[in-house]
Amino acid sequence: METKLRIGTGYDIHPLVRKRKLIIGGVEIPFARGLDGWSDADVLTHAVIDALLGAAALGDIGGHFPPGEAKYKDISSLTLLKEVGEKLAAGGWGIVNIDATVIAEEPKLAGFIEGMRQNLSQTLDIEVERVSVKASTANGLGCIGKGRWMEARTVALIEGKE
Ligand SMILES: [Zn+2]
Repeated sequence: METKLRIGTGYDIHPLVRKRKLIIGGVEIPFARGLDGWSDADVLTHAVIDALLGAAALGDIGGHFPPGEAKYKDISSLTLLKEVGEKLAAGGWGIVNIDATVIAEEPKLAGFIEGMRQNLSQTLDIEVERVSVKASTANGLGCIGKGRWMEARTVALIEGKE
């Protein structure tokens, strides 16, 4: 049996608005504003989902969970991630590792990173050592620096047997 490896990338962006919870990696973070979107707008989890789908060449998050569908309104993105993990497992894929970066000017995310890693790894049923989450800022530059939105970038490596 030969092991085959596949890599995928994920990118996501959501605007920061008032009257929304700020949820990143399934962690609710106290802040005056939150990310806007059809689901809970969890920018990190969405980028992880797209990296995993990309690695398995299974399309993208919008194709699997179309925004505008009532059943996805305000849904926890961890629920969507769990479904994607199950789709990969059904296809014979295991996750080697995930490395993610959240780019946000405020608030400070350092204290929440471990919770994000725990949420992502538990949802995917993999060891937490396989999930890296990093926080970066835009050093005051551009729209991230002005606090208008947040971004997340992710790579994921998966392995399958053939
Ligand atoms: Zn998103």
